[in-house]
Parts: sequence; C-alpha cells; structure tokens
Amino acid sequence: MSKNFVDTYKLKGLRKKLAEEIARKGEFDYKLIDVIANLPRHFFLDSAFAEKAYHDQAFPIGEGQTISQPYTVAYQTMLLEVKPGEKILEIGTGSGYQAAILASLGAKVYSIERVQKLSDEAKKVLAHLNIIVKTYVGDGTLGLPKQAPFDKIIVTAAAPIIPETLLLQLKVGGYLVIPVGDKETQEMRRITKTGESTFKTQVFDTFRFVPLIGEEGW
Ligand code: SAM
Repeated sequence: MSKNFVDTYKLKGLRKKLAEEIARKGEFDYKLIDVIANLPRHFFLDSAFAEKAYHDQAFPIGEGQTISQPYTVAYQTMLLEVKPGEKILEIGTGSGYQAAILASLGAKVYSIERVQKLSDEAKKVLAHLNIIVKTYVGDGTLGLPKQAPFDKIIVTAAAPIIPETLLLQLKVGGYLVIPVGDKETQEMRRITKTGESTFKTQVFDTFRFVPLIGEEGW
C-alpha cells in the first residue's frame, strides 16, 4: 500500500463536510465529531484514494478487508461512551482508524489484528500521527488475557456468537460492543457486565461487517 501522508486544504474541507454529514445522521457527542473533523482518514487508505476517504463509505484496505464506514465508526464509538483514561480493547485493527478515534478521545487503546500486513500498515500511520495504540497480531476472539481486564471492548468484525472469553476480560460495569449475526447482516449489540457473571444486552441497528475469523468467531 502506498502512503504519502500529505494533507491539503481540499482534503481538510472534505473532512469537515464528512464530520457535518455524520453529525446530521445521529446524536453524536461534539467531541467525537470534532475528532472526525480533524483526523486525516485518508492517511489510513492508499494515497491513490485520498478523496474516497471522505465519502461516508467503507473502503478496501487490502487483504480482502475494509476500513469501516465513518458513520459505523461513530455509531460504535457512541455506544462505547468513551471516557478519558479508560482501557479499551479493539478486535480488528484493520486500517487503525477506529483505534485512532478512540485514542484521540483519551482512551488507552489495545488493538488486535489477525493479518500481520494490516497491523504493520496501521502501526505506520499511528506512529506518523503520534497516536499511541498498543497493537497486537493474533486471534482477537481470545482477547488479551495478560492486559485484561478492560473497561470496554469493541469488535469491528461480524461475530456469529458473543465470544465468552471477551466477556471474562471485561471489568464489572464495562461494555462489549459487537455486531452479531450471519455473514450478511449483523445487529449491533452492547453487553453490559452488571456483575461477575451477570450481563445486560441491548440491541441496536443492523450493519454489515467482514467476518470475525477465529476460535470464538467463524
Ligand atoms: N477497525 C478497522 C478500521 O478502523 O479500519 C476496521 C476493521 S475491518 C471492518 C475488520 C478487521 O477485523 C479486518 O482487518 C480483519 O482482518 C480483522 N479480523 C477478523 N477476525 C479477527 C480476529 N479474530 N482477530 C483480530 N482481527 C480480526
């Protein structure tokens, strides 16, 4: 993937318009909209597609994977109710954009990706932007036992079931935000860990993600 990390007035303008478009589509916190307006999403794509970054669409990032649609990123972030200093685990680093949004909101982000090449590319962009995210390569359905427990966990790929292991790695009071369904469509769910072994599930809108592949995935 070719990256050149050049920002221009034109791309800044498109980014501001994208942030305004997202703000019109949902009840998002102004801090999140501000992060979207300032974070150069085109750095996370091949430089040939810079302008595509500012359409509210998912886009290929290679290896058969995608950067999620900005609206979807905003939606999952909203459900996480991120507070500065929280420890958040992301499953599916992909381009690194979602992780960068969470870190820009003040979270301590740990992100796992199963495809080494994508993780390497994401690391380069995050380093260029001076955004601190701890990245890992492996099967995210198994979480990160050594770094657990987490305040929040976000899964950015389509899960057939709720991975039990991830629930074990949540703090009491924490949330798991995860799209669950078949390979075509998934319902966004937020599971709140209400006690050591009690949970509350809320179901939100329908989305379409690439599959979560792993021991507790497809
Ligand atoms: N969050 C990403 C972003 O901001 O660009 C988008 C993620 S993309 C929709 C889903 C990613 O999940 C893909 O990069 C895929 O390789 C990864 N993935 C799928 N199964 C996984 C697993 N078990 N562990 C870690 N990553 C996984």
